[in-house]
Amino acid sequence: MDQVESVRTPASWVVVGLDNGGTCNNATVLDATGRYLVDNLVENPSLVTEGPESAIDQLAQAFHNILELTSTPLTLVRAVGLDTPGPASANGVISSKGATNFSMVSWHGFDIRSALEARIGLPVFYLNDANAAALYAHHQLFGAEAMTKSSVAAIVGTGLGGGVVEDGKVVSGAAGMAGELGHVQIPLHGVLEVGQPIPECNCGFSGDGESIASLTGIKKNLLPYWLTRFPDHPLAAEPLPQAAKQLRSYGEKEDPLALAVFEQQAKAIGKLFTIAANFTDPDAYLLGGGVVEASPKFRQWFLNTVRENTELRAEQQAAATFALVADLDMAGARGAAVAALEAVQPV
Ligand SMILES: [Zn+2]
Repeated sequence: MDQVESVRTPASWVVVGLDNGGTCNNATVLDATGRYLVDNLVENPSLVTEGPESAIDQLAQAFHNILELTSTPLTLVRAVGLDTPGPASANGVISSKGATNFSMVSWHGFDIRSALEARIGLPVFYLNDANAAALYAHHQLFGAEAMTKSSVAAIVGTGLGGGVVEDGKVVSGAAGMAGELGHVQIPLHGVLEVGQPIPECNCGFSGDGESIASLTGIKKNLLPYWLTRFPDHPLAAEPLPQAAKQLRSYGEKEDPLALAVFEQQAKAIGKLFTIAANFTDPDAYLLGGGVVEASPKFRQWFLNTVRENTELRAEQQAAATFALVADLDMAGARGAAVAALEAVQPV
């Protein structure tokens, strides 16, 4: 009977988390006790560019694959969590204008949640990818205390995603658009240099979080400006999209231009967190994205700069934590699974 602890009891049940991305789906299984049955990325092609029909097939395939891989009988699955990039409604209806990953007309206004639910015959709960990452980060940080804690997360990628978690649950909002930190306009005083143009965001706003703290913001706004200050920099010879992607490796080498750009990003996130401090006053401020994969010294400098630019009152400083979001490549699937578990768990 030595091996008894590695055997799941027949009474246990699970939820499945599916993270739908531009190229791949990632899947995980979470049991009723909060344990993940998968340690690694388990991916299949998402085929979102081929339209809804192929994409739903691939999600169903990811679902059945992960059950097979973990030897989990279908009858033990109580619900599925699904996350995709936005914009989409709180119930998983893709924006009527489409979205970066869902540009085919057949995606516009498509209800991906209901389609998957109909396909696999189990309840499907939806959230956007940044919200899923935020939810996972929250639970990972707080563990057993997660359901009594709050957090705000900023996830820096192509755009600036975010999430607001209250009492362990994502705040999704009336239209599914809560926690869009990237499109909150921030005070630019102390962030921009004298004479630096006001950064523009693809959403139409000027001077919002994403216009500065995102890869798009680097390419469109920050790098074009900073290259005028460092005209002899080697990146001046590269096309902007390539130069923007290389910037982090320069930052890790403490290149002055790169540090100037990343310092502006960190300051912008600090301004966003200052707004959050006065809105929800969270227990934790979480930071994720490419910066988490950077060298430890660089990411610590970045987090410290965010913290120094987040203006908290003394009481808040004593109560709040700043942390990096780990396991980002699995955070979407894991967060989607947590959302499904929360939705069906008996209270
Ligand atoms: Zn915006």
